[in-house]
Amino acid sequence: MTELRRLHELTHACEACPRLRAYCLRIAREKRRSYADQEYWGKPISGFGDPLARLVVVGLAPAAHGANRTGRIFTGDRSGDWLYRALHKAGFANQPEALGRDDGLRLQDAYVTCVVKCAPPDNKPASDELKRCIALHLVPELESLSRARVFIALGRIALDGLWPLLAPGEPRPSFRHGARVRLDTSPGPTWLLLSYHPSQQNTFTGRLTEPMFDGIFSAARELLRKTP
Ligand code: SF4
Repeated sequence: MTELRRLHELTHACEACPRLRAYCLRIAREKRRSYADQEYWGKPISGFGDPLARLVVVGLAPAAHGANRTGRIFTGDRSGDWLYRALHKAGFANQPEALGRDDGLRLQDAYVTCVVKCAPPDNKPASDELKRCIALHLVPELESLSRARVFIALGRIALDGLWPLLAPGEPRPSFRHGARVRLDTSPGPTWLLLSYHPSQQNTFTGRLTEPMFDGIFSAARELLRKTP
């Protein structure tokens, strides 16, 4: 078993946050009417993608009726439609659709994860839940992605969670869609790109448009071309 696979299995079995585990299981039991005939996953969600990825995308948390239902990050909801379409356009995914774990989606040179692995009520994890999940799951996950050179943080909470892992002790950059941060690492720089999260709150209001979002992934592609 690979190290990443082992970490995924540990994540799936985690019970460290009673409030979040109870919420995910309740949602999985009650279900949304339109998915009443489906078996919800209901467990914590691991990352997904290429273990040798140089691009790592970090979101907030699984959606209650999206990944908490399908069992794969950003799968089965509108945020995922935006994300995998953008990854496909930039050549990181073999297809734009993400419908379920058996839909044939494959990522190449890209890996998608999130700072909190259980769906939180109102998409708002408590600060202790956030810290615990990052320490237990995101830290070892990122350590195992040894080829990662470009990170995309989707939203401020992802930036807050990711920044101390990328640049411990350094002042966190302020959040601005499209911002690029260069970190001097060996054997070449590591990059952090900031993007609005493709949540309906942002996409329905026009705060985040498709060209704005696609631009982040084409910038990542361009940086990887120049990165040793
Ligand atoms: S949020 Fe993270 S640490 Fe908390 S129960 Fe879920 S997987 Fe475990």
